[in-house]
Amino acid sequence: ARTLRIGLIPGDGIGREVIPAGRRILEALPSSLGLNFSFVDLDAGFDCFKNTGVALPDKTLDTLRKECDGALFGAVSSPTTPTKGYSSPIVALRKRLDLYANVRPVKSVKPTAAYPDPIDLVIVRENTQDVYVKEERTYELEDGTIVAEAIKRIDSKASSRIARMAGEIALKRRAIRETSGDNIGKQTMVTISHKSNVMSQTDGLFRSCARAALEEKRFVDGGIKIDEQIIDSMFYKLGRNPSPYDVIVAPNLYGDLLSDDAAALVGSLGLIPSANVGDGFAIGEPCHGSAPDIEGRGIANPIATLRSVALMLQFLDQEDAALAIEKAVDSQLLEGRFSTPDMGGNATTNEVVEDVLKRL
Ligand code: NAD
Ligand code: MN
Repeated sequence: ARTLRIGLIPGDGIGREVIPAGRRILEALPSSLGLNFSFVDLDAGFDCFKNTGVALPDKTLDTLRKECDGALFGAVSSPTTPTKGYSSPIVALRKRLDLYANVRPVKSVKPTAAYPDPIDLVIVRENTQDVYVKEERTYELEDGTIVAEAIKRIDSKASSRIARMAGEIALKRRAIRETSGDNIGKQTMVTISHKSNVMSQTDGLFRSCARAALEEKRFVDGGIKIDEQIIDSMFYKLGRNPSPYDVIVAPNLYGDLLSDDAAALVGSLGLIPSANVGDGFAIGEPCHGSAPDIEGRGIANPIATLRSVALMLQFLDQEDAALAIEKAVDSQLLEGRFSTPDMGGNATTNEVVEDVLKRL
Protein backbone atom coordinates (compact mmCIF):
# COMPACT_ATOMS: atom_id res chain seq x y z
CA ALA A 1 0.00 0.00 0.00
CA ARG A 2 1.10 3.54 -0.69
CA THR A 3 1.49 6.02 2.18
CA LEU A 4 0.69 9.69 1.62
CA ARG A 5 1.97 12.21 4.13
CA ILE A 6 -0.54 14.97 4.77
CA GLY A 7 0.19 18.29 6.52
CA LEU A 8 -2.65 19.46 8.77
CA ILE A 9 -2.91 23.23 9.24
CA PRO A 10 -6.09 23.95 11.21
CA GLY A 11 -5.36 27.68 11.68
CA ASP A 12 -7.93 29.62 13.74
CA GLY A 13 -11.57 29.47 14.80
CA ILE A 14 -13.64 26.68 13.28
CA GLY A 15 -10.58 25.59 11.29
CA ARG A 16 -9.66 23.75 14.48
CA GLU A 17 -13.07 22.03 14.52
CA VAL A 18 -13.25 20.95 10.88
CA ILE A 19 -9.68 19.85 10.11
CA PRO A 20 -9.89 16.93 12.60
CA ALA A 21 -12.92 15.76 10.60
CA GLY A 22 -10.75 15.79 7.47
CA ARG A 23 -8.18 13.62 9.19
CA ARG A 24 -10.84 11.20 10.40
CA ILE A 25 -12.25 10.58 6.93
CA LEU A 26 -8.79 9.85 5.53
CA GLU A 27 -8.19 7.37 8.34
CA ALA A 28 -11.56 5.74 7.69
CA LEU A 29 -11.03 5.11 3.96
CA PRO A 30 -11.44 1.40 3.16
CA SER A 31 -8.15 -0.48 3.06
CA SER A 32 -9.19 -1.97 -0.29
CA LEU A 33 -8.15 1.38 -1.82
CA GLY A 34 -4.54 0.53 -0.96
CA LEU A 35 -3.79 3.90 0.60
CA ASN A 36 -2.35 4.76 3.99
CA PHE A 37 -1.90 8.18 5.47
CA SER A 38 0.52 9.72 7.90
CA PHE A 39 -0.06 13.17 9.34
CA VAL A 40 2.00 16.08 10.53
CA ASP A 41 0.44 18.94 12.53
CA LEU A 42 1.54 22.36 11.34
CA ASP A 43 1.05 25.85 12.69
CA ALA A 44 -0.17 29.01 10.95
CA GLY A 45 -2.70 31.75 11.51
CA PHE A 46 -3.53 34.74 13.63
CA ASP A 47 -3.21 32.93 16.96
CA CYS A 48 0.14 31.63 15.79
CA PHE A 49 1.10 35.23 14.97
CA LYS A 50 0.00 36.43 18.42
CA ASN A 51 1.99 33.66 20.12
CA THR A 52 5.14 33.64 18.02
CA GLY A 53 5.20 36.87 16.00
CA VAL A 54 4.90 35.05 12.66
CA ALA A 55 1.71 33.96 10.88
CA LEU A 56 3.43 31.40 8.66
CA PRO A 57 6.42 29.79 10.40
CA ASP A 58 9.30 28.65 8.16
CA LYS A 59 8.95 25.19 9.68
CA THR A 60 5.43 24.90 8.26
CA LEU A 61 6.60 25.85 4.78
CA ASP A 62 9.71 23.62 4.96
CA THR A 63 7.76 20.60 6.19
CA LEU A 64 5.18 21.00 3.43
CA ARG A 65 7.95 21.27 0.84
CA LYS A 66 10.18 18.47 2.09
CA GLU A 67 7.88 15.90 3.68
CA CYS A 68 4.32 16.23 2.48
CA ASP A 69 2.39 14.92 -0.51
CA GLY A 70 -0.53 17.20 0.19
CA ALA A 71 -2.14 19.23 2.97
CA LEU A 72 -5.38 20.39 4.53
CA PHE A 73 -5.83 23.99 5.61
CA GLY A 74 -8.70 25.14 7.85
CA ALA A 75 -9.09 28.90 8.01
CA VAL A 76 -7.40 31.91 9.50
CA SER A 77 -8.80 34.97 11.25
CA SER A 78 -7.24 37.82 9.38
CA PRO A 79 -7.90 41.17 11.08
CA THR A 80 -9.76 43.71 8.94
CA THR A 81 -7.55 46.57 10.18
CA PRO A 82 -3.83 46.77 9.29
CA THR A 83 -1.81 44.84 11.87
CA LYS A 84 1.94 45.48 11.92
CA GLY A 85 3.90 42.43 10.84
CA TYR A 86 0.84 40.33 10.02
CA SER A 87 0.00 39.04 6.58
CA SER A 88 -2.48 36.26 5.72
CA PRO A 89 -0.62 32.92 5.76
CA ILE A 90 -2.90 31.24 3.20
CA VAL A 91 -2.28 33.99 0.65
CA ALA A 92 1.46 33.56 1.35
CA LEU A 93 1.29 29.74 1.13
CA ARG A 94 -0.43 29.90 -2.25
CA LYS A 95 2.30 32.17 -3.58
CA ARG A 96 5.31 30.50 -1.93
CA LEU A 97 4.28 27.00 -3.09
CA ASP A 98 3.10 28.34 -6.46
CA LEU A 99 -0.35 26.86 -5.97
CA TYR A 100 -1.58 28.84 -8.92
CA ALA A 101 -5.15 27.56 -9.13
CA ASN A 102 -7.94 27.66 -6.61
CA VAL A 103 -10.56 25.17 -7.72
CA ARG A 104 -14.01 25.53 -6.16
CA PRO A 105 -16.78 23.16 -7.19
CA VAL A 106 -20.35 24.17 -6.36
CA LYS A 107 -22.87 21.37 -6.63
CA SER A 108 -26.44 20.95 -5.47
CA VAL A 109 -27.56 17.50 -4.37
CA LYS A 110 -31.26 18.29 -4.42
CA PRO A 111 -33.39 20.90 -6.15
CA THR A 112 -34.65 23.91 -4.22
CA ALA A 113 -37.68 26.12 -4.86
CA ALA A 114 -35.37 28.89 -6.06
CA TYR A 115 -33.24 26.62 -8.25
CA PRO A 116 -35.18 23.58 -9.50
CA ASP A 117 -32.49 22.60 -12.04
CA PRO A 118 -29.26 20.97 -10.86
CA ILE A 119 -26.35 23.27 -10.07
CA ASP A 120 -23.03 21.71 -10.99
CA LEU A 121 -20.29 24.19 -11.75
CA VAL A 122 -16.72 24.86 -10.76
CA ILE A 123 -15.00 28.17 -10.26
CA VAL A 124 -11.33 28.18 -11.23
CA ARG A 125 -9.77 31.15 -9.55
CA GLU A 126 -6.30 32.44 -10.41
CA ASN A 127 -4.45 32.24 -7.12
CA THR A 128 -1.22 34.24 -7.30
CA GLN A 129 -1.88 37.65 -8.84
CA ASP A 130 -4.38 40.47 -9.27
CA VAL A 131 -4.80 42.86 -6.33
CA TYR A 132 -3.82 39.99 -4.01
CA VAL A 133 -0.16 40.71 -4.74
CA LYS A 134 -0.81 43.16 -1.89
CA GLU A 135 1.44 45.90 -3.16
CA GLU A 136 -0.38 48.75 -1.53
CA ARG A 137 0.74 52.18 -0.45
CA THR A 138 -0.78 55.12 1.35
CA TYR A 139 0.31 58.75 1.05
CA GLU A 140 -0.94 62.22 1.72
CA LEU A 141 -1.53 65.03 -0.77
CA GLU A 142 -0.62 68.64 -0.02
CA ASP A 143 -4.27 69.44 0.71
CA GLY A 144 -4.36 66.70 3.38
CA THR A 145 -6.29 64.12 1.32
CA ILE A 146 -5.08 60.62 2.09
CA VAL A 147 -4.67 58.35 -0.91
CA ALA A 148 -4.37 54.56 -0.83
CA GLU A 149 -3.39 52.64 -3.95
CA ALA A 150 -3.01 48.99 -4.86
CA ILE A 151 -1.30 47.26 -7.74
CA LYS A 152 -3.48 44.98 -9.83
CA ARG A 153 -0.99 42.68 -11.55
CA ILE A 154 -2.00 40.29 -14.33
CA ASP A 155 0.53 38.50 -16.52
CA SER A 156 0.24 36.38 -19.63
CA LYS A 157 1.89 33.31 -18.11
CA ALA A 158 -0.46 33.10 -15.11
CA SER A 159 -3.52 33.91 -17.23
CA SER A 160 -2.73 31.24 -19.83
CA ARG A 161 -1.98 28.52 -17.31
CA ILE A 162 -5.13 29.14 -15.27
CA ALA A 163 -7.21 28.99 -18.45
CA ARG A 164 -5.51 25.72 -19.43
CA MET A 165 -6.30 24.35 -15.99
CA ALA A 166 -9.94 25.38 -16.52
CA GLY A 167 -9.92 23.63 -19.91
CA GLU A 168 -8.45 20.42 -18.45
CA ILE A 169 -11.05 20.46 -15.69
CA ALA A 170 -13.86 20.93 -18.23
CA LEU A 171 -12.62 17.91 -20.22
CA LYS A 172 -12.30 15.79 -17.10
CA ARG A 173 -15.76 16.77 -15.86
CA ARG A 174 -17.27 15.78 -19.16
CA ALA A 175 -15.52 12.41 -19.06
CA ILE A 176 -16.90 11.86 -15.54
CA ARG A 177 -20.42 12.80 -16.71
CA GLU A 178 -20.11 10.31 -19.55
CA THR A 179 -19.02 7.41 -17.33
CA SER A 180 -21.42 8.16 -14.47
CA GLY A 181 -24.40 9.06 -16.68
CA ASP A 182 -25.03 12.02 -14.36
CA ASN A 183 -26.10 15.33 -15.88
CA ILE A 184 -25.31 13.92 -19.29
CA GLY A 185 -26.84 16.70 -21.41
CA LYS A 186 -24.75 19.42 -19.83
CA GLN A 187 -22.85 21.68 -22.23
CA THR A 188 -19.07 21.50 -21.79
CA MET A 189 -18.15 25.14 -21.49
CA VAL A 190 -15.58 27.49 -19.98
CA THR A 191 -16.86 30.95 -19.10
CA ILE A 192 -14.16 33.61 -18.82
CA SER A 193 -15.14 36.30 -16.30
CA HIS A 194 -13.55 39.72 -16.45
CA LYS A 195 -14.17 43.45 -16.61
CA SER A 196 -12.12 44.28 -19.68
CA ASN A 197 -14.67 46.84 -20.80
CA VAL A 198 -13.27 49.04 -18.00
CA MET A 199 -9.84 47.56 -17.24
CA SER A 200 -8.82 47.05 -20.83
CA GLN A 201 -5.14 46.35 -20.04
CA THR A 202 -5.23 44.12 -16.95
CA ASP A 203 -8.51 42.27 -17.46
CA GLY A 204 -8.03 42.69 -21.19
CA LEU A 205 -4.80 40.68 -20.98
CA PHE A 206 -6.47 38.03 -18.83
CA ARG A 207 -9.30 37.73 -21.34
CA SER A 208 -7.14 37.49 -24.45
CA CYS A 209 -4.71 34.97 -22.90
CA ALA A 210 -7.58 32.84 -21.61
CA ARG A 211 -9.27 32.84 -25.01
CA ALA A 212 -6.04 31.93 -26.79
CA ALA A 213 -5.34 29.08 -24.36
CA LEU A 214 -8.82 27.65 -24.76
CA GLU A 215 -8.53 27.84 -28.53
CA GLU A 216 -5.66 25.30 -28.38
CA LYS A 217 -6.32 22.14 -30.35
CA ARG A 218 -6.99 19.73 -27.50
CA PHE A 219 -9.72 21.96 -26.10
CA VAL A 220 -11.28 22.64 -29.50
CA ASP A 221 -11.19 18.92 -30.31
CA GLY A 222 -12.66 18.25 -26.89
CA GLY A 223 -15.70 20.32 -27.86
CA ILE A 224 -15.28 22.97 -25.18
CA LYS A 225 -17.47 25.98 -25.84
CA ILE A 226 -15.70 29.25 -24.98
CA ASP A 227 -18.04 31.65 -23.27
CA GLU A 228 -17.33 34.97 -21.61
CA GLN A 229 -19.19 37.12 -19.19
CA ILE A 230 -18.44 40.55 -17.79
CA ILE A 231 -18.15 40.04 -14.06
CA ASP A 232 -21.15 42.08 -12.90
CA SER A 233 -23.51 40.38 -15.31
CA MET A 234 -21.86 37.09 -14.32
CA PHE A 235 -23.13 37.62 -10.77
CA TYR A 236 -26.56 38.53 -12.12
CA LYS A 237 -26.86 35.52 -14.42
CA LEU A 238 -25.53 33.16 -11.80
CA GLY A 239 -28.17 34.39 -9.37
CA ARG A 240 -30.95 34.12 -11.97
CA ASN A 241 -30.07 30.67 -13.31
CA PRO A 242 -26.85 28.91 -12.39
CA SER A 243 -27.65 25.58 -14.07
CA PRO A 244 -26.10 26.22 -17.53
CA TYR A 245 -22.66 27.06 -16.11
CA ASP A 246 -19.92 24.46 -16.20
CA VAL A 247 -16.44 25.90 -15.57
CA ILE A 248 -15.93 29.58 -14.74
CA VAL A 249 -12.40 30.97 -14.88
CA ALA A 250 -11.62 34.30 -13.25
CA PRO A 251 -8.80 36.49 -11.94
CA ASN A 252 -8.11 36.20 -8.21
CA LEU A 253 -10.47 38.81 -6.70
CA TYR A 254 -13.51 38.08 -8.89
CA GLY A 255 -13.03 34.36 -8.33
CA ASP A 256 -12.94 34.87 -4.57
CA LEU A 257 -16.17 36.90 -4.63
CA LEU A 258 -17.95 34.64 -7.09
CA SER A 259 -17.36 31.53 -5.05
CA ASP A 260 -19.00 32.84 -1.86
CA ASP A 261 -21.92 34.02 -4.00
CA ALA A 262 -22.21 30.62 -5.68
CA ALA A 263 -22.16 29.03 -2.20
CA ALA A 264 -25.35 30.92 -1.37
CA LEU A 265 -27.06 29.26 -4.36
CA VAL A 266 -26.68 25.82 -2.81
CA GLY A 267 -27.58 26.88 0.71
CA SER A 268 -24.42 27.26 2.80
CA LEU A 269 -20.82 28.33 2.70
CA GLY A 270 -20.25 25.29 4.92
CA LEU A 271 -20.77 23.04 1.87
CA ILE A 272 -18.20 24.46 -0.53
CA PRO A 273 -14.73 22.95 -0.79
CA SER A 274 -11.66 24.19 -2.56
CA ALA A 275 -8.24 23.00 -3.53
CA ASN A 276 -5.15 25.12 -4.01
CA VAL A 277 -3.36 23.36 -6.82
CA GLY A 278 0.11 23.64 -8.29
CA ASP A 279 2.22 21.21 -10.26
CA GLY A 280 2.41 18.11 -8.08
CA PHE A 281 1.03 19.55 -4.83
CA ALA A 282 -2.46 20.33 -3.54
CA ILE A 283 -3.88 21.86 -0.38
CA GLY A 284 -7.52 21.14 0.36
CA GLU A 285 -9.25 24.09 2.05
CA PRO A 286 -12.91 24.79 2.80
CA CYS A 287 -14.03 28.03 1.11
CA HIS A 288 -15.27 29.51 4.34
CA GLY A 289 -13.34 31.50 6.92
CA SER A 290 -12.83 30.98 10.64
CA ALA A 291 -16.49 31.86 11.47
CA PRO A 292 -15.90 33.60 14.83
CA ASP A 293 -19.68 33.86 15.30
CA ILE A 294 -19.98 30.08 15.82
CA GLU A 295 -16.49 29.01 16.91
CA GLY A 296 -16.08 26.78 19.95
CA ARG A 297 -19.63 25.46 19.86
CA GLY A 298 -19.01 22.26 17.90
CA ILE A 299 -21.63 23.12 15.28
CA ALA A 300 -19.50 24.05 12.26
CA ASN A 301 -20.56 22.27 9.10
CA PRO A 302 -17.79 19.78 8.25
CA ILE A 303 -19.02 19.03 4.71
CA ALA A 304 -16.88 21.71 3.01
CA THR A 305 -13.79 20.21 4.62
CA LEU A 306 -14.71 16.60 3.80
CA ARG A 307 -15.25 17.62 0.18
CA SER A 308 -11.93 19.48 0.24
CA VAL A 309 -10.26 16.22 1.28
CA ALA A 310 -11.81 14.55 -1.79
CA LEU A 311 -10.66 17.41 -4.00
CA MET A 312 -7.11 17.24 -2.64
CA LEU A 313 -7.05 13.48 -3.35
CA GLN A 314 -8.33 14.08 -6.88
CA PHE A 315 -5.43 16.42 -7.60
CA LEU A 316 -3.01 13.90 -6.07
CA ASP A 317 -4.36 11.43 -8.67
CA GLN A 318 -6.22 9.32 -6.10
CA GLU A 319 -9.50 9.31 -8.02
CA ASP A 320 -11.02 6.24 -6.36
CA ALA A 321 -10.49 7.54 -2.85
CA ALA A 322 -11.85 10.94 -3.89
CA LEU A 323 -14.96 9.38 -5.39
CA ALA A 324 -15.59 7.26 -2.29
CA ILE A 325 -15.64 10.40 -0.11
CA GLU A 326 -17.81 12.35 -2.56
CA LYS A 327 -20.36 9.55 -2.67
CA ALA A 328 -20.51 9.25 1.12
CA VAL A 329 -20.99 13.02 1.44
CA ASP A 330 -23.67 13.22 -1.26
CA SER A 331 -25.55 10.33 0.31
CA GLN A 332 -25.39 12.02 3.73
CA LEU A 333 -26.75 15.25 2.26
CA LEU A 334 -29.53 13.46 0.37
CA GLU A 335 -30.66 10.96 2.97
CA GLY A 336 -29.08 11.89 6.27
CA ARG A 337 -31.17 12.95 9.26
CA PHE A 338 -28.36 15.12 10.57
CA SER A 339 -27.50 18.62 9.46
CA THR A 340 -25.77 21.51 11.20
CA PRO A 341 -27.63 24.78 12.02
CA ASP A 342 -26.37 26.62 8.90
CA MET A 343 -28.51 24.15 6.93
CA GLY A 344 -31.50 24.40 9.21
CA GLY A 345 -30.73 21.38 11.39
CA ASN A 346 -29.56 21.06 14.96
CA ALA A 347 -26.81 18.47 14.66
CA THR A 348 -23.23 18.88 15.81
CA THR A 349 -20.13 18.69 13.64
CA ASN A 350 -19.43 15.23 15.09
CA GLU A 351 -22.89 13.84 14.38
CA VAL A 352 -22.58 14.80 10.72
CA VAL A 353 -19.06 13.37 10.49
CA GLU A 354 -20.19 10.06 12.08
CA ASP A 355 -23.06 9.84 9.60
CA VAL A 356 -20.72 10.38 6.64
CA LEU A 357 -18.21 7.82 7.98
CA LYS A 358 -20.98 5.19 8.22
CA ARG A 359 -21.71 5.69 4.54
CA LEU A 360 -18.07 5.41 3.45
P1 NAD B 1 -16.75 33.26 7.30
O1 NAD B 1 -16.65 32.44 6.07
O2 NAD B 1 -15.85 32.89 8.41
O3 NAD B 1 -18.26 33.27 7.81
C1 NAD B 1 -19.35 33.79 7.05
C2 NAD B 1 -20.66 33.24 7.61
O4 NAD B 1 -20.80 31.86 7.23
C3 NAD B 1 -20.71 33.25 9.13
O5 NAD B 1 -22.03 33.54 9.53
C4 NAD B 1 -20.34 31.83 9.52
O6 NAD B 1 -20.90 31.40 10.75
C5 NAD B 1 -20.90 31.03 8.35
N1 NAD B 1 -20.10 29.83 8.11
C6 NAD B 1 -18.90 29.78 7.49
N2 NAD B 1 -18.44 28.53 7.48
C7 NAD B 1 -19.35 27.76 8.11
C8 NAD B 1 -19.42 26.37 8.43
N3 NAD B 1 -18.46 25.50 8.09
N4 NAD B 1 -20.50 25.93 9.10
C9 NAD B 1 -21.49 26.78 9.44
N5 NAD B 1 -21.48 28.09 9.16
C10 NAD B 1 -20.41 28.59 8.50
O7 NAD B 1 -16.47 34.77 6.84
P2 NAD B 1 -16.29 36.08 7.74
O8 NAD B 1 -17.18 36.00 8.92
O9 NAD B 1 -16.41 37.19 6.79
O10 NAD B 1 -14.78 36.02 8.20
C11 NAD B 1 -14.35 35.55 9.48
C12 NAD B 1 -12.84 35.46 9.49
O11 NAD B 1 -12.40 34.48 8.57
C13 NAD B 1 -12.14 36.77 9.09
O12 NAD B 1 -11.07 36.97 9.98
C14 NAD B 1 -11.64 36.51 7.69
O13 NAD B 1 -10.44 37.18 7.40
C15 NAD B 1 -11.38 35.03 7.75
N6 NAD B 1 -11.43 34.35 6.42
C16 NAD B 1 -10.45 33.44 6.19
C17 NAD B 1 -10.46 32.72 5.02
C18 NAD B 1 -9.39 31.71 4.82
O14 NAD B 1 -8.70 31.35 5.75
N7 NAD B 1 -9.17 31.21 3.62
C19 NAD B 1 -11.49 32.89 4.09
C20 NAD B 1 -12.50 33.81 4.37
C21 NAD B 1 -12.46 34.54 5.56
MN1 MN C 1 -12.98 34.14 0.25
